[in-house]
Amino acid sequence: MSTADRLVDFDEVLTRYEPVMGLETHVELGTASKMFCGCSTTFGAEPNTQTCPTCLGLPGSLPVANSAAIESTIRIGLALGCRIATWARFSRKNYFYPDIPKGFQTTQYDEPLCTAGHLDVEVDGETYRVEIERVHLEEDTGKNLHVGGSTGRIHGADHSLIDYNRAGIPLVEIVTRPIPGAGAKAPEVAKAYVTELREILVTLGVSEVRMEQGNLRCDVNTSLAPIGHLEWGTRTETKNVNSLRSVERAVRFEMRRQAAVLDAGGSITQETRHFHEDSGSTSPGRSKEEATDYRYFPEPDLVPVAPDEEWVATLQAGLPELPAARRTRLSDEWGIAPTEMAWLVNAGAVELVSETVAAGASPGDARKWWLGDLARRANDSGTELAELAVTPAQVAELIGLISAGTINDQLARQALDGVLAGEGDPAAVVEARGLAVMGESDELVSAVDAAIEGNPDVADKVRGGKVQAIGALVGAVMKTTRGKADAATVKRMLEERLVSS
Ligand SMILES: [Zn+2]
Repeated sequence: MSTADRLVDFDEVLTRYEPVMGLETHVELGTASKMFCGCSTTFGAEPNTQTCPTCLGLPGSLPVANSAAIESTIRIGLALGCRIATWARFSRKNYFYPDIPKGFQTTQYDEPLCTAGHLDVEVDGETYRVEIERVHLEEDTGKNLHVGGSTGRIHGADHSLIDYNRAGIPLVEIVTRPIPGAGAKAPEVAKAYVTELREILVTLGVSEVRMEQGNLRCDVNTSLAPIGHLEWGTRTETKNVNSLRSVERAVRFEMRRQAAVLDAGGSITQETRHFHEDSGSTSPGRSKEEATDYRYFPEPDLVPVAPDEEWVATLQAGLPELPAARRTRLSDEWGIAPTEMAWLVNAGAVELVSETVAAGASPGDARKWWLGDLARRANDSGTELAELAVTPAQVAELIGLISAGTINDQLARQALDGVLAGEGDPAAVVEARGLAVMGESDELVSAVDAAIEGNPDVADKVRGGKVQAIGALVGAVMKTTRGKADAATVKRMLEERLVSS
């Protein structure tokens, strides 16, 4: 680590500085074809098999805008409460990297499709309004692969490979206005914003939103200003932060690093920085270009986009129920407080509980199993709830078996072991493992009789009026039946034999 990486304790940062963040989120749209040509967008194809003269920027090729991408962008804008432009234009952003074969990126500059929206996010019961400056449409770049070095970066590599399959895939950029006032919660607000945005994109169905495949990438801007200063500090831009947790870590690290620089009397360099997943630290990239360096000018090969008002109204009317509204409705339907809904959100269980209820379980039972036993198992194995090898339908089936009296909670846990081990649906596991609660069968009758014979002293106490002593006999029966008997039934059978005869 260089001296620039001295860090101030997080709590101490907040005694002297006010953080301001900004987030630029890139979302690869899930359209079948690219933004300005007909090439396929399927992920994982052999390198350079999904290209054509247009997305390779060959002379004489002409772009045609993808209308499905424009529609998706407007729907994102509407979901974020943006104003939709009646007239928008594409521009050329000139820069020269090998992954941008045309020598410019076709994007939107001063006339984006959507402006002036907002997204409310909740952290620890408090709502923070994140203002959205713009939502615009552009094209993705190709992918560089630097081979031979240890870090995957160009420094130290033998050679570099370029895959243009990604070049030209429609990319929506969602840019927030600076977010002040979050204080100590700044890292969590940043994470909550991206989490909520991701939920909205999933609900709209505009993108696969797989962060690990790079469908959603965040640039995280962070700056600090001494408390009481009206002017915000110089910001750094941490590029391509590719997980929700990393968004939080990137803000936290930059706050601590910048505070150390400022404490030492230094100044923050306006630059892009790389985020390192392993250490949670950032390191300097290139110094940040000014807009003028890109020499933007209107794209002469594309006509302006003028979304028809009626069409926009139709898109607005066709928006699905958005995540925040859905959470409010489900809280009402399930009769739970907002704080309990927040737990479900944090546990990633809203969808799972909702599907379990849809499959026939009561909301209370569904919450109990997902937040209780299943959350514990996910935690023990270090996975997310949704990654457990059990479906909401199976959980509902398990709950149904308990309600029907076929199994009790303890047997249900054993049945769950079987489901998670891939032994089939709960009913099949109960059958195969012989987990069903025993009825008043011959087996149970003989277990009850054996308990009385095996514990004559206890039996005599019960006969003599010490009815509480019956618990020891119930325990003995439960033990011989390995928990498969129903305790209430056993107690009744013992009473019939020992009491009031
Ligand atoms: Zn193409």
